[in-house]
Amino acid sequence: MGYKIAWIKGDGIGPEISETAFNVVEALESKYNLNFEIVFYDAGDVCLTRRGTALPSETVEGFKRADVAIKGPVGETSMDATVKLRQMFDLYANIRPVKNFPNIECVRNIDVVIVRENSEDLYKGFEFELDNMAIALRIISDYATRRIARLAGKIANKRSGLVTIVHKSNVLRKTCGLFSKVAKEELSKYHVNVNEMYVDAASAMLIRSPERFDVILTTNMFGDILSDEAAQIAGSLGIGPSANLGEEKALFEPIHGAAPDIAGKNIANPYAMILSFKMLMEWLGERKNDQRLKEAASTLESAVVNALKMGYKTPDIGGDKKTNEVGSFIHKLIKNL
Ligand code: ATP
Repeated sequence: MGYKIAWIKGDGIGPEISETAFNVVEALESKYNLNFEIVFYDAGDVCLTRRGTALPSETVEGFKRADVAIKGPVGETSMDATVKLRQMFDLYANIRPVKNFPNIECVRNIDVVIVRENSEDLYKGFEFELDNMAIALRIISDYATRRIARLAGKIANKRSGLVTIVHKSNVLRKTCGLFSKVAKEELSKYHVNVNEMYVDAASAMLIRSPERFDVILTTNMFGDILSDEAAQIAGSLGIGPSANLGEEKALFEPIHGAAPDIAGKNIANPYAMILSFKMLMEWLGERKNDQRLKEAASTLESAVVNALKMGYKTPDIGGDKKTNEVGSFIHKLIKNL
């Protein structure tokens, strides 16, 4: 049985890290006899220039047909491509696990999962101009808060059982006030410990004592910012994968952006993209109850750990390897594991 995977390479470093991850996927496919039906689709800045739209209808249709999707980063059209896909398919949860990997210099030891509400907040895109003002509407609903809190509760149950709700209800009294109140109500139904922290304090605490966090439940924009910070604490933006989850659909992607400053130089770190594919296989394996996918995901993680131990590192994490060299080495490791 084959699995249909829609893949958007994206902009900037997106094509390089996608091709590198694809090379790794080919090794897993033959080792576990997985038969992925991967179809590449356009979206993003280059797509806008070439075709007049950042999200063509065939990409949306391909996404509908696929069992699961993965994408590289897109540049300035993120709102029209990434955020639009999240909204169209109601991918309401953005899950961003951050942990240390061997042989990567880090700021601190860290092991957290950021559970970011992904469908509303300032990212709803309700912005307008009035006289000489620009106005953005921040939407936080009871419904969206409850469902993301439930997911945070489930994830925390499988980990150490601590959820920290991060918000700013002393200033954003209505929106963050609702988020905090409803999240606590929902989490009280789970066997988890719950505490709360204002986002400014949380950003400082993440650097000072990341061990005080396990699952961080937060709103869309705070989650976006805190997850970049957390990834950097672990060593680099280039190693952070993420999942956008809905009830039926899922889209996986690195947390970093298109990094135009290093695009085309074959020095981008491909690990976030590779680890995003690992998360994809875990999700699909669970959904389809396919043990091969779960094993392939675990093999991929081991191969990543071994490659890093053996110094297969790009410059952002203190190495001198090229993007594609990392991919070829992991490909070889998987074949020999
Ligand atoms: P976005 O808002 O879309 O997340 P951004 O403009 O905040 O994007 P990035 O594109 O993520 O930022 O890049 C921020 C910095 O991190 C850049 O200097 C970039 O070179 C570096 N960086 C990001 N991703 C990687 C990667 N995979 N490998 C190496 N360096 C990276």
